[in-house]
Amino acid sequence: MGYPGASAPCKWPFLALLKSPNYMRQCTRERLRVTEIFYSLQGETRTVGIPTVFVRLTGCPLRCSYCDTEYAFTGGEWMDIRTILDRVVEYATRYVTVTGGEPLAQRRCLDLLRALCDAGYEVSLETSGALDISGVDPRVSRVLDLKTPGSGESEKNRYGNLEHLHSGDQVKFVICDERDYRWARRQTLDRRLSERCEILFAPSSGQLPAPVLANWILRDRLPVRLQIQLHKHLWGDVPGR
Ligand code: SF4
Repeated sequence: MGYPGASAPCKWPFLALLKSPNYMRQCTRERLRVTEIFYSLQGETRTVGIPTVFVRLTGCPLRCSYCDTEYAFTGGEWMDIRTILDRVVEYATRYVTVTGGEPLAQRRCLDLLRALCDAGYEVSLETSGALDISGVDPRVSRVLDLKTPGSGESEKNRYGNLEHLHSGDQVKFVICDERDYRWARRQTLDRRLSERCEILFAPSSGQLPAPVLANWILRDRLPVRLQIQLHKHLWGDVPGR
């Protein structure tokens, strides 16, 4: 048993495409604001534990109570897509996660996702679900964070996004307390989300002990995956990890 998708022929990196003058001309015109690009183990989702390159885009229109990436709200540096691809290719992995902030707050994020897929990477996108995901390249695995009441941002949920989910996507709930758990359970069951894609229940760090959430999931026989943030267990809550 290998990594997810390991049986597919690996065409990474797709050098012919990356060297195409027309493609590169387009990639140098399209710029995004980037907070950091780093290499780590995937701490969440179904590729947890796999070495992954993270591209963290700058900016977010939300202000969740438990946000652990406030440093990505502002700052960063402008990079064209070619530069981002050059940075990503330095690492010997085919897994790339585009995250934020809220990556989709930058219009060019869609172009970046497409370019990464064209280059042969296994690409995932971490999004708050407050912005339209319908334009995201279908080769991308979307990890849609449906905001719970405890986040303070649940009124920003764009429920129409759920219609665009496919089996390669994932819906995540960050759960702060029992009220959040009951809310997430109702969304999961009433909307039959597990029939669309995988569902992730994550305890909010420092607010809800993981064993408590684990016991609730088992008690209620919920068809969801408990996820803890592996990177925080390994390295603590530090940027670039
Ligand atoms: S959507 Fe993500 S980055 Fe934005 S405030 Fe919420 S947790 Fe932070």
